[in-house]
Amino acid sequence: MDENLRLGTDYRPPEVKVHFSYPEDHGSFAHATNRCVGVGKCRHMGGGTMCPSFMATREEEHATRGRARILFEMMSGKGEIELWKSDEVRRALDLCLSCKGCKKDCPVGVDMATYKAEFLSHYYRGKPRPRVAYAMGMIGRWASLGSRAPGLANFLLQTPGISGALKRMAGIAPERAAPTFAHRTFRDWYGRRGSRAQPGSPHVLLWPDTFVNFFHPGVGKATVEVLERAGYRVTLPKRALCCGRPLYDYGMLDTAERWLHKILRTLRNDIRNGVTMIAMEPSCLAVFRDELPNLMPDDEDAKRLSRQSVLLSEFLEGRRWEPPQLAGRKAVVQSHCHHKAVMGFESDQTMLERLGLDFEVLDSGCCGLAGSFGFEAGEKYDVSMKAGERVLFPKVRESSPDTLIVADGFSCRTQIEHGAGRRAVHLAEVVHMALRAEAVGR
Ligand code: SF4
Ligand code: SF4
Repeated sequence: MDENLRLGTDYRPPEVKVHFSYPEDHGSFAHATNRCVGVGKCRHMGGGTMCPSFMATREEEHATRGRARILFEMMSGKGEIELWKSDEVRRALDLCLSCKGCKKDCPVGVDMATYKAEFLSHYYRGKPRPRVAYAMGMIGRWASLGSRAPGLANFLLQTPGISGALKRMAGIAPERAAPTFAHRTFRDWYGRRGSRAQPGSPHVLLWPDTFVNFFHPGVGKATVEVLERAGYRVTLPKRALCCGRPLYDYGMLDTAERWLHKILRTLRNDIRNGVTMIAMEPSCLAVFRDELPNLMPDDEDAKRLSRQSVLLSEFLEGRRWEPPQLAGRKAVVQSHCHHKAVMGFESDQTMLERLGLDFEVLDSGCCGLAGSFGFEAGEKYDVSMKAGERVLFPKVRESSPDTLIVADGFSCRTQIEHGAGRRAVHLAEVVHMALRAEAVGR
């Protein structure tokens, strides 16, 4: 479409200083908010990821288009909406799950998760955020503290009276069970075990995200053993790091940028030596592929890290590694929405095919948990569960007990456990299962 038609000839977007670089919009947030052409694909109910909050509420204001419209009005200065300080805009963005579904499914690439993070970073400048932002946005810090005494942390988080009080204080839905701390972190396990690769094996760096490290270390162990079996030597970053994924949900972009700079400093040698970094959590890889270059477009190390960061499935597919077969097993697969929107799900699909599984990738959209979103009390919890009930929970409930439930995202695994009572596994655990089956000769 002709740009003047969309913008209107009298439209003069204000020059505002922003965090993200908006490369598709000449660096202009105002132009980005003017992308929506209004045809309403975000209001359909038929499948895909966009837009889970509309599918749950069926209200225009909770569709991508409604949000794009109010942001455009704020930037055009035509209405009464105060730039960055409007409660009306904050409320309109509140039920956006930041799933990035629109980034992929919207025909003109409206990227509401980025606009929401940008808006919130300005809206909260100079004023405190809700408690839940500090509780969930900084989960990497709290998880690190909790992991020093995991037994005590689990006791406090799972004893009804105490955990109820803690959830109320933190703004977390009382219905949500807190994730359980592993008794030993993944980094600790790997530190004691060390590498078992053959001498001279090529080197890869593994990103031990907060969720794998503190809560699901089995995913990390499986990934290490699969990579070693494929002939690679794995190392971890020398110090504990967090990509800051949950910070974006609350617009804590100054902190997010500081954490990214720390990552670039710590990994500088590996980055400049061209070492591939493998991520297990799709939403963390999305930070390196999407937010990092968008926040630091002129930083050469940021660009390198973004290019060198891959999923396990992308890495193994690129090296044409063939896993052993798990033929005969059925699987139901939930793909993470950041995975689909930023990386694409094709390499996971290829790996599932190579495993010989009889699998179905669900057209379930966002699982509904969406990082911290579904942990929040009130309307967000309700939207989260409605999103899960649309396709995911019924499909998991109707699958037989020996069907594998596969989900690479920590949020998706947590949501499946909460909403359908089944434990889901990461693709790395499925490949590991195939290795073990082969080793015992089945
Ligand atoms: S947000 Fe995208 S899909 Fe929705 S109306 Fe606008 S252009 Fe269409
Ligand atoms: S990020 Fe997800 S929830 Fe938010 S507007 Fe886009 S599709 Fe809807």
